[in-house]
Formats: sequence, C-alpha cells, structure tokens
Amino acid sequence: MGDVQALLQSVFGFPGFRGVQGQVIDRVMAGRHTLAVMPTGAGKSLCYQLPAVARDGLCVVISPLIALMHDQLRSALAVGIRAATLTSADDNRRETIDRLRAGALDLLYVAPERAATPQFRELIAEARINLFAIDEAHCVSEWGHDFRPDYRLLRPLLDSFPHVPRLALTATADAHTRADILVQLGLPEDGMIIAGFDRPNIRYAISPRDGAARQIADLVRQTPGAGIVYAPSRAGTEKLAAQLAATGRPVRVYHAGLSPELRQANQAAFVASEDMVMVATIAFGMGIDKPDVRFVAHAALPRSIEAYYQETGRAGRDGAPAAAHLFWGAEDFVRARQRLDEVEPDRRASEQARLAALSGLVETGDCRRMVLLRHFGEQPAGPCGNCDNCLTPPARVDATELARKL
Ligand code: ADP
Ligand code: MG
Repeated sequence: MGDVQALLQSVFGFPGFRGVQGQVIDRVMAGRHTLAVMPTGAGKSLCYQLPAVARDGLCVVISPLIALMHDQLRSALAVGIRAATLTSADDNRRETIDRLRAGALDLLYVAPERAATPQFRELIAEARINLFAIDEAHCVSEWGHDFRPDYRLLRPLLDSFPHVPRLALTATADAHTRADILVQLGLPEDGMIIAGFDRPNIRYAISPRDGAARQIADLVRQTPGAGIVYAPSRAGTEKLAAQLAATGRPVRVYHAGLSPELRQANQAAFVASEDMVMVATIAFGMGIDKPDVRFVAHAALPRSIEAYYQETGRAGRDGAPAAAHLFWGAEDFVRARQRLDEVEPDRRASEQARLAALSGLVETGDCRRMVLLRHFGEQPAGPCGNCDNCLTPPARVDATELARKL
C-alpha cells in the first residue's frame, strides 16, 4: 500500500487533487461504499485508479461500453498501471485470466453482463478484490437517462463480496436517480459525495430552429476552435457535414454506421485538431478527452437534461470560454411525445417527467444555468450573466395586457 499523495504525483503526474477527488479517495481507501456524482471531466477515473494502485489486490471496474473500456485501458497503461479489459473484442483473454490469477493485475475492466456470470464470480474469487468501481452508475436506474438492464445483475455479485468496498460513479444523476443508485447498488444513504455541477465558462444558448444548417454555420463562423455538432440521425450528420463544409473549416462525421476504422480515424483527427468541426450522433463523445472543445451545438432536442448536460459538458474542459447552443423545433417535441407512447408503461411516468424538465429548460425566459443547476439539486445564488437569457433578456409577452386590448 502506497502513500496516496505520493502516488498521485509519481504515477499520475498531478500536483494535487481536483474538487472532491481527495474526499472520494479517502472514503474508498477507508473501505467505505461510496457514490460519487462528479461532472464530466472532473476526473472520476482517478478516484478508482489511484486506490487500485495504492491498495493490494485487484480493482474490478464495471463499464457499459467496450470502446469506453479500451479508452480507459489506454490511459491506465499510459501511466504504467497493470490494467486489462476482459471483453469479447479482446483476443488475449486467456493471458488476462492468467495474470489475474497470478495477482499481476491492478485494474480489470469488464462489462456488466460478463461481470454477472457465475464464471466471472468464480474467477475473481481467486484474486484479491480490493474495490468494485461501477462507472456510469446512472445506468442502474430506470430514473437515469440511460438505463441498462444489465446493471441490475450486478447486485448479487457485489453482495457475494460483502467486504469489498463499492464506488459508484456518475456525472449525471438527479436526486431521484441518485437515491435509486444507492438502493440498487446497496450503498448507504450517507455515502454520497456530490461535486458542483456548474460549468461557469460555458455560455448556454437555446433558440428555435429556423434553418439549422445556416444557424449552425453562423455559430461555426463566429466561434474559432474545435467544436462538436450533434445531429439526431446518421443521415442528418452526413447532410449537415456537407452543408458546414462551406464554412471553410475542416469537418468530419461520426456515427455508428461508419466502419470502426473510419470512426477511430475521425475521432483521432478531431482530438488532434485545433479547428475541426465534428458532426456526430450521440455515439460520439464518451471517453473522449479533448480539453479545448470551444463549442457544442445541438441541431435538435437532446433526450433529456442529463444528456444535454453531459453532451454540452464536453465543451471548455480547459476552463476557457466555450459555447453550448441548442436549436430546437416543435417537431422535436412531437417526436419525443410519440416516443413516450412506445415506452413500457412502468417507465412512462419517469420519461414524462424527463421531457417536462427538458421543455422547462427550453421554454424558460429566466437564467438557463439556474434551471440546469436546480435540476441537479443545487441552489444557485442568482442569474449567471453568461447565458442567452441573461445576456439578451427575451421580450416578455404580457398576456393580461394583450387580452385587455383584444
Ligand atoms: P470523468 O470520467 O470525470 O469525465 P476523467 O477521469 O476522464 O473524467 O478525467 C478527465 C481529465 O482530467 C483527464 O485528462 C485526467 O487526466 C484529468 N485529471 C484527473 N484528475 C486530475 C487532477 N487531479 N489534476 C489534473 N488533471 C486531472
Ligand atoms: Mg469517466
């Protein structure tokens, strides 16, 4: 077991903890179950990577996507952590299992469906498990914006190692979802650490759509630096990318319909570029570490406030000014309501609440940031002065006055 502060410097090369990292790591090192709610880019990975290195034995990390696991693996290997992934995409599984048995691994990334198998349980029983880290923990809750039924299978695994601490991590969970994560993963009520959600350098703006291609092209022209444009469909990204090429900026696309090679190449080009515009579906973004994204545009309504916050949160991680501009149309809400009808009845109420919260954000004439932060349970002191409604207060229609005139 190494000294945490010393390891922070020697292994990760960081001069100190950021935000609540120290608090979270203290709890984990003390062996206590914890739910850490920290914004995207706050440094959640360190909260399990550091204890994984500092404590003897193996840390098992549950993660929802193979691509995400491989990104995390790369960054863990880059700092010299003994890490591996165990997924269907890995042909070195035999070797990984041998290393696990030999106690030669600090960190093992695995998807929930594999983690839940009896074979996996038997396998890790042969190792010394020092921590279960459950990344993207909102996936365990039907109230969360990205429910994955497989996450529900984790509980029996966790319970069969009652003395192993659990660290659940998420960027986006409202109060309801947070409470549900605690219940679903068997964490104590006082085990929650919540970092602030405010991203003061992001300027939020939301406007009705009126020729999205032109509006987004204007935004691109006005905003130097790299940016991400989210479009709702694969075809939509291709079309918008072609239209944005007229701005003269390098433009690439990213969606699940592209070959893995092309996706990888486009992503790498974006990360390396200082002025590229990436037009993408929501398949793009998780696990991408690019601090100097200057704007994130939405060509249509996102699925929820949580998704909006997570997607816009990819802007301005370096702390310098960045813009988040959402363009919405009435048809987005029509489609969202149609989707509601397809939702299973027992989830309909939560989906309905989610849509209502989103329309509240879109429709408000008040400070956007206050609406966002209140959604996540914070009590902001006052209007931010750095969103569209603060900077250009919308004209208020006085209904009483109108009625009187009529
Ligand atoms: P999250 O999972 O919360 O979105 P990551 O764990 O991917 O965030 O970390 C985001 C970035 O912050 C990474 O580049 C990481 O190296 C960096 N980082 C994490 N902790 C620190 C720290 N204490 N000091 C400086 N940079 C840090
Ligand atoms: Mg993360």
